[in-house]
Amino acid sequence: MKMQIGGKSVEACGCEYLDIINPATGELIDRVPRGTEGDVEMAVEAASSAFSSWASTSPQQRAGILYRAAGIVRQRKDELAVLLTREQGKPLAEAKNEIEGFVNVLEYYCGLASSFHGDFIPVPQNGYAFTVKKPLGVCAAIIPWNMPALIMAWKIGPALISGNTLVLKPASNTPLTNLTLASILSEAGLSAGVLNIVTGPGEVVGESLVKSHRVKRISFTGEAGTGKRVAELAASGMKRVTLELGGSDPMLICDDANLKDAVAGALRGRFYNCGQTCTAVKRLFVFESVAEEFIKKLEAGIRNLRIGNGLHENIDMGPLNNRRQWEYIKELVADIEEKDEGRIVTGGRVPEGNVWSRGYFFEPTLVEDVPGESRLLKEEVFGPVLPVVRVKTLDEAIEKANNTCYGLGASIWTKNIDRARIGFEQLNAGIIWLNQHLKVAPEVPFGGTGESGIGRENGPDALSEYLDLKTVMLKT
Ligand code: NAD
Repeated sequence: MKMQIGGKSVEACGCEYLDIINPATGELIDRVPRGTEGDVEMAVEAASSAFSSWASTSPQQRAGILYRAAGIVRQRKDELAVLLTREQGKPLAEAKNEIEGFVNVLEYYCGLASSFHGDFIPVPQNGYAFTVKKPLGVCAAIIPWNMPALIMAWKIGPALISGNTLVLKPASNTPLTNLTLASILSEAGLSAGVLNIVTGPGEVVGESLVKSHRVKRISFTGEAGTGKRVAELAASGMKRVTLELGGSDPMLICDDANLKDAVAGALRGRFYNCGQTCTAVKRLFVFESVAEEFIKKLEAGIRNLRIGNGLHENIDMGPLNNRRQWEYIKELVADIEEKDEGRIVTGGRVPEGNVWSRGYFFEPTLVEDVPGESRLLKEEVFGPVLPVVRVKTLDEAIEKANNTCYGLGASIWTKNIDRARIGFEQLNAGIIWLNQHLKVAPEVPFGGTGESGIGRENGPDALSEYLDLKTVMLKT
């Protein structure tokens, strides 16, 4: 596939390519241009030229186009899900959910088309003021490979409905679904240059975008380390930034929790998308009195998970998305065994045999008796490995849960309203769930505290991130 700049499919200035590999089979699916600084400049130029005419359309007209695009995506859901599974690795059912998520987010922002307007403010001593909300201009979106379709919607929904134009950089491993979705937006009537996609490495395409003086706002989703680099570069141009970064979400299971539900929540929370979700359950804290029963049930659930090629029937967990991630997980588990930092209850290996030999598969893994300083509790483990820690009280669980630089999500599992309230109040996280984990919705603000980032996506709040507020004061 080619990049999409100014409504045209284009090759990179450098005539080089990135191979896109199916992580379940190692097969080459396609290749995309390896974009350069020159390509970024071309895309920013296209987005700048398209801005004034897109900004002068009414929000309702914009909603009409986005709504049409959502309809086409819905019709082509099955085909898009296959493409997403082939490049990302997730089971087909998860890929279909993600495409539905894309549609829901777009339609949600279409519904907000009439909602953003300024205010009239009476001012003492013969005067009044009013405010006007204006789009910012050219915005940039940089996205990761774990949920490329959903996160694309989180960026383009609020950016485009509010009248901005956009240059989006997909992750190097998963650009195909993004490029196809962008071509559907063109088919639905989006004018040339309003949405541009530049493929290529983060250090070149990502950094050039952040540095470009014509880009007014950066919306970045990815690792905390990359986020810091983006923030540093954006600061010199005083650009607005949203950073949606990593997490190490804790799940707290009290002794009065419904253990069957908690086991199901932990299985989905950790192993959905092969553990590669920013708000995955990455640390489990369970009350001692129910720990043995809980761990036994969880182990049985993990042993029942069917791993394999996401395109095959009845698969619960696909491969990791890429070699770097696979090597990291293998090395992490080997390190735990070597340093005796926990007991592997189940999993812990690369499955053996021909079926697995060309994919980035790793067994779903449960580790208990994990000491506080273990890498499993300190790093963001982006893969199918779950550490479990026994605790005596809720205070101890909260103290351990908060012992992290991250603050994205957290869940507390209890039937006791007081315990739930203490959890909501004391857990350091942007999103707190009660008796569930992972659920997100377009209507609900999403984002973290600490090293999990700055700003919020989803909900009406995300719109204000893409609008400039101008105040006018009059004397009467
Ligand atoms: P990453 O930081 O390696 O890459 C993210 C994007 O940034 C990619 O498109 C990459 O090419 C680009 N990039 C890399 N270096 C860059 C640079 N120097 N300047 C500009 N752009 C650059 O992250 P990843 O491995 O693709 O994704 C996994 C991470 O994303 C995890 O930490 C995960 O928790 C996080 N994530 C967060 C959220 C959230 O909403 N909080 C959602 C999904 C994923």
